[in-house]
Amino acid sequence: MNIRGIYKTSLIDYPGKISAVLFTGGCNLRCRYCHNPDLAGNWQEMPLSSDEDTLDLLRKRKNLIDGVTISGGEPTLSKDLFSFVEKIKELQLAVKLDSNGLQPGVIRNLVAGGLLDYAAIDIKTSPEKYRLLTDSDVDFSNIAESIEVLRTSGIDYEVRTTCVPAYVTMEDLASIRDAVGRVRKYFLQQFQREARLLDRAWEVIEPYPVETLRQFRDFILTFADRCEIRGI
Ligand code: SF4
Repeated sequence: MNIRGIYKTSLIDYPGKISAVLFTGGCNLRCRYCHNPDLAGNWQEMPLSSDEDTLDLLRKRKNLIDGVTISGGEPTLSKDLFSFVEKIKELQLAVKLDSNGLQPGVIRNLVAGGLLDYAAIDIKTSPEKYRLLTDSDVDFSNIAESIEVLRTSGIDYEVRTTCVPAYVTMEDLASIRDAVGRVRKYFLQQFQREARLLDRAWEVIEPYPVETLRQFRDFILTFADRCEIRGI
């Protein structure tokens, strides 16, 4: 694994559970609003926590937490993810994966191995605007496939989108709906610009008023069983 950061306890990263959060280094996107630019780009300069030390920490805290959130960066890029998650499951801890959904094969293997209890997949924007927002060439069909794997798996999952003005509009949400179909839970996240962003020019973007997010939520509810707004 490539663990470059650990929160020992979080009440907010894993819905309904107290979790430790592991942050892996490296990402295949460069989202302009990324709040973890060092994890995404300069992770080699961050301290590495070995798998053994990390598992030792989880073992010592297993009575204080319900589960582990594996976040990033992009965790599916870590080559040892499958065997590492197996070891977490041996500790009888629940596992949540945060992912940008670009590696459906990795998610499929984890699901097939019975290693995931919850997954959160980010959809950054519509297929048409992905490059603008992420500065990366993306095959959106991989994201749709990851969601399909989760939809048919029976495990709990959510889809989430950070609503950046001009980059996530009602038209973009309609395009997302057309690309991924019906989903179980969809979280709309308010754009937060207080922290240092990967593209500092984005720190001047004014977030949407809450009323706009509510209109988005009403639309999302036409293709999601549940939709909530976070960060307002
Ligand atoms: S916000 Fe984007 S660039 Fe940053 S870690 Fe997540 S997927 Fe990678």
